Amino acid sequence: MVVAKDWGWTMQSIAPQELHNTIRDYVATLKRQSVAGILSTYLIFDPTETDPLEASSFGVPFYVGQGDIVHRAKDHLCGRSGVLTRRRIQTIYERGQHPRFLVVAHTRSRLTSLKSEMDWVCHLHGLGYALTNGWREHKRATPLQATPAKRVWQFSVKDALLDAVKVKVQCKVCGCRQPVCLEDLPDIDVRHTHLNQVRRTFRCPRCSSHRCLRIEVPRVQEPSAPDLRQVLAANFQGMQALNSPEPRDQHQRRRSPMSRRGDAVTTCLVESPAAAASASR
Ligand SMILES: [Zn+2]
Repeated sequence: MVVAKDWGWTMQSIAPQELHNTIRDYVATLKRQSVAGILSTYLIFDPTETDPLEASSFGVPFYVGQGDIVHRAKDHLCGRSGVLTRRRIQTIYERGQHPRFLVVAHTRSRLTSLKSEMDWVCHLHGLGYALTNGWREHKRATPLQATPAKRVWQFSVKDALLDAVKVKVQCKVCGCRQPVCLEDLPDIDVRHTHLNQVRRTFRCPRCSSHRCLRIEVPRVQEPSAPDLRQVLAANFQGMQALNSPEPRDQHQRRRSPMSRRGDAVTTCLVESPAAAASASR
């Protein structure tokens, strides 16, 4: 059955049965609005709470994430998040609602995407929002200059190559130091092999020791300068109408198109199926 294949056991375990169809429709809408091959920085909003800063009319942002928006949203909606985020989403379900997603930036590389995520986390912290993000670098008041290596080890070889991540041998046993050309590694499927796997299997060319690889993460300057109020203001009417848990004025409701600023930054509203349905009535 398609539902079981799509959602697995976690959806059944954390969302009340009556919300399943709504959530499935929501993800379908999200899929239609997503752009293939592009990474998204997104915020998750709790529509059951009023935004104390009154920046948004459809709830309080409580999480910043990045990646393929459809896959990530499915993960979150099915309970595959960190403990705090999962608890928050479960509470939203128990109140008869589901979380709302807002894409605030589009990027093409993993490093840029992680930088964008980090910048948005710091921005929302600065505004006073309490976030459920768990990474240590997401607890900081100011963004780090470079993405922590532990996150970059999770990259696929392809992503590492695209982001010009440097890999080198730095062997503690024999002192060997030399660069590693990822493209020349034998039997590597660049899309599906991750740097962590390379690290586990690679052996020092001189003494055959394990765990001899290091990486050098390039700095990303590109994203930053996020501004929640600006993003919200730019899309105010559409966002208010489409992501409001209980839309008030149907005449003001209209579809918010995906807008593109340059090539790297895009905002995109994820429409609530319930709001869309009532808008079309
Ligand atoms: Zn060695």
